[in-house]
Amino acid sequence: MANLQALKKTFVELYGDSSASIAAFHAPGRVNLIGEHTDYNGGYVFPAALTFGTTMLIRPREDRNIGFASTNLPLRKQISIDELSYQEEDDWMNYPKGIFVHLAKEGFPVTKGYDLLFHGEIPNGSGLSSSASIEVVTAFGLLSMEGYPKDTVKIALLAQKTENQFVGVNCGIMDQFAVANGKKDHAILLMCDTLEYSHVPFNSGKYKLVIGNTNKRRGLVDSAYNERRSQCEQAVTYLQQQYPGIELLGQLSLEQFNAAKHLIPDETVSKRAQHVIEEIDRVLQSIDVLKANDLEAFGKLMVGSHNSLRDLYEVTGPELDAMVEAALKVQGVLGSRMTGAGFGGCTVSLVHEDSVQTFIDQVGREYTEKTGLTPSFYVCEIGNGVEKLEEAL
Ligand code: ADP
Ligand code: MG
Repeated sequence: MANLQALKKTFVELYGDSSASIAAFHAPGRVNLIGEHTDYNGGYVFPAALTFGTTMLIRPREDRNIGFASTNLPLRKQISIDELSYQEEDDWMNYPKGIFVHLAKEGFPVTKGYDLLFHGEIPNGSGLSSSASIEVVTAFGLLSMEGYPKDTVKIALLAQKTENQFVGVNCGIMDQFAVANGKKDHAILLMCDTLEYSHVPFNSGKYKLVIGNTNKRRGLVDSAYNERRSQCEQAVTYLQQQYPGIELLGQLSLEQFNAAKHLIPDETVSKRAQHVIEEIDRVLQSIDVLKANDLEAFGKLMVGSHNSLRDLYEVTGPELDAMVEAALKVQGVLGSRMTGAGFGGCTVSLVHEDSVQTFIDQVGREYTEKTGLTPSFYVCEIGNGVEKLEEAL
C-alpha cells in the first residue's frame, strides 16, 4: 500500500494548500487464477484482487476545473469539467476523463471541480489490470465525494463501458469486476454472461501466489485477441446445427460439446472451442477441489490450463512457456500458468513458502538464459476491492 503521508506531500507540492481536506481511495490490481479466454464466451472466470493497486488522492476545488496528475506517468493538466473529451495526446488521462463522462451519462454528473493525484503500484500493460484499477478508483472516489450511491457491480460495468467506448479497448468485464468486488483472502467465481458471482475462500496455507512478470510487451495481443473471438463465434455457428438455441460456447457442457464437436470442420476452430469448453470445466473443478482444501489438485488444474492455452488456444508464446516450464522444475511448486490475455504479461504460480526465494532465483536465471529478458516477481496476498482509505490526511 502506498505511503499516504508521502503522497499527501506530493499532492500539496503540486496543487498547493487549501482549506478543503484531501480524501484517499484505493483500488487493487487483479490476477486471474484460472479461467482464461472464457469471459467473452459467457463462461466462468476465477480472479482475485491483489493487495497492491492504484491510490487516488482527491480534494474539491473552488472552480469547475479538474486537475490530473500521476506519480507514474508524465503529463499534468487542468481541464474544465465541461470540456472532458477523448484526446489522443492526453494519453493516460483519458481513463479518468472517460469515467467523468460516463458517470454523467448514467445520471451521476460530477458537480464541481477536483484535484486528483494517482499513484500506481501495478506495472502498466502487464495483464494485472492497472487500467481497470485506475478506472474503478476514479469512479468510486467521485461517487463518494459527490454523495451518490456506490454499487460496486454498477461501477464495474461503468468502468468497462468507459474502457470499451471512451478509451477504445475491447475488454470483457472480468478485470473491472474483480477490482471493484474483491475480498481479502477470497477469489471470485464470476459467470461473465449473467454476472452472477460468489466469493470463494482461498486458503493457500503454506503456499504463496507468486506472480512472474515476463516483461515482454504484449505486442501481438490485439489482432490475435480479435481472431480468437471470431473463431469462437464460428464454432458457435457450427454447433448451432445441433443446439440451435445457443449463442455462446459457455452455454454448452463438456458432454454436450463432445457430442457435437464433429460438426466443426475446421481443425483450428475446433481446437479453440475445445479450450474454452474444457477451461470452463476446469474452473468448476477448481471450486470443488478448493472447497476440499486440495491445493495439489488445484495446482494440476493450473498446469492443465496453461497447456491448453499453449496447445489448443495458442496464446502463450516462448516467454510465458519458458517461465512456466522453469517454475514447474522448482521443488515446492504445485502449479503454474500464464494469466491474462497471453503473448506476454504475467504467470501465476502456487509456491511453498520455504521455496519462494529459490523459485525467484532459479526461475529468474533460467528465464533470462532462455529469453534474454529480466523478469520481475511479486509474492502476493489476496486483498479487498475498491475502498476508501480512512487514515487521516
Ligand atoms: P494493464 O491494464 O494490463 O496494466 P493496459 O494497457 O490496459 O494494461 O492499461 C495501462 C494504462 O492504464 C497505462 O498505460 C496508463 O495509460 C493507464 N494507467 C494505469 N495506471 C495508471 C496510473 N497509476 N497513472 C496513470 N495512468 C495509469
Ligand atoms: Mg487493462
